[in-house]
Amino acid sequence: MTEAGRQGLETVLDPLTVDLGTAGGFGRGRVRNLPWAGNAPHLPDDLTGLAGVPLVRAIAEEVQARGYSAVLAPTHFLSAADDPWLLIDADLTHRLRAELDRLGLGHVRIYYPLVVKAEVFRHAEARGRLVQTLRPPLPIDAVWLRIHPFGTNSSGPLALRRYLEGCRDLHATGVPLVAEHSGTVGLALMAFGAVGGIESGITFSEGVQLGGLFKAPDPDDRGFSPAPRIYLHQLGTFLPPERGEAFFGARGMKSAHGCTNSGCCPRGWQDMQMRPRRHFLLQRAHEVATLSATPPPLRAGLYMENFLRPASDRAVRAAEIEPSLEPARKRLDSWRGTLGAQLEKHSVFTVSEPAAGKRLRRPA
Ligand SMILES: [Zn+2]
Repeated sequence: MTEAGRQGLETVLDPLTVDLGTAGGFGRGRVRNLPWAGNAPHLPDDLTGLAGVPLVRAIAEEVQARGYSAVLAPTHFLSAADDPWLLIDADLTHRLRAELDRLGLGHVRIYYPLVVKAEVFRHAEARGRLVQTLRPPLPIDAVWLRIHPFGTNSSGPLALRRYLEGCRDLHATGVPLVAEHSGTVGLALMAFGAVGGIESGITFSEGVQLGGLFKAPDPDDRGFSPAPRIYLHQLGTFLPPERGEAFFGARGMKSAHGCTNSGCCPRGWQDMQMRPRRHFLLQRAHEVATLSATPPPLRAGLYMENFLRPASDRAVRAAEIEPSLEPARKRLDSWRGTLGAQLEKHSVFTVSEPAAGKRLRRPA
């Protein structure tokens, strides 16, 4: 954590209150052992008003003890726009800020996970309510969007359009938006100004799926993580590790999809397979940096010309060689249609503030 701080990387404590507020989430051992877990899944009454103080205090003390640079606000899953958690969570967030400040942790940022069903987020009226709650004086430095379900594999034309619209409404708060677990579609969301930052796992977690929170934990699930996948940066998609040899062995694929960045993969396509995490991280960081370095009005056009159009063209041949890439090919085509139409319809987009780990300057 000290080294991360020295390198300018953030360390963010997730207090897992979303899990603690659901039967399925609470059932998981490591969640139940948190100092602020209590004895049963949290209900709104447990954390209303002064009842929320012990939880907030325990979280702030954890931030202090371990030296985190930021913390996720203790929010909960919203099943409807008038879900009682919305106002309770805002109140808990105010209390958390006060508690951090009291401990001399005024520099610690608070990011607010907005965890909501897509069918709620798609209603303008519901979003109006969210804007009212999330705007200043709520003491937060960014909103992290966890819209369920949404992600690279659940971003059909309607879902993608609604996500973009939803974000544009939230821009009225002036708070940066971050798309959680968005994966490759997150880059499109950034290019079109919807979000100012993206979050994802390393070659996995390309979508928000909260289904596990609402069912009993699987006793056989030992939490093994699968082997990392090979990132095909030209297509923004992944190959199963065991398919690498066959794919790159096919004619033309080494030159079309091999990594040519010698700082990333000195041995090209071989290093993509040998060190898939490194290749993914460096490429994704490069993709984000390229967008960020482009003036906002030019980002959408650049994304379409430099990534999406060539990717959807290249995907045709790639999917002939590797049939498991067919869904990715269809997805690229679909995004091309949806985003191309967006670009024709709007000449100017509202743009999220960048989520660069800076404290927002708030009027006192
Ligand atoms: Zn590489």
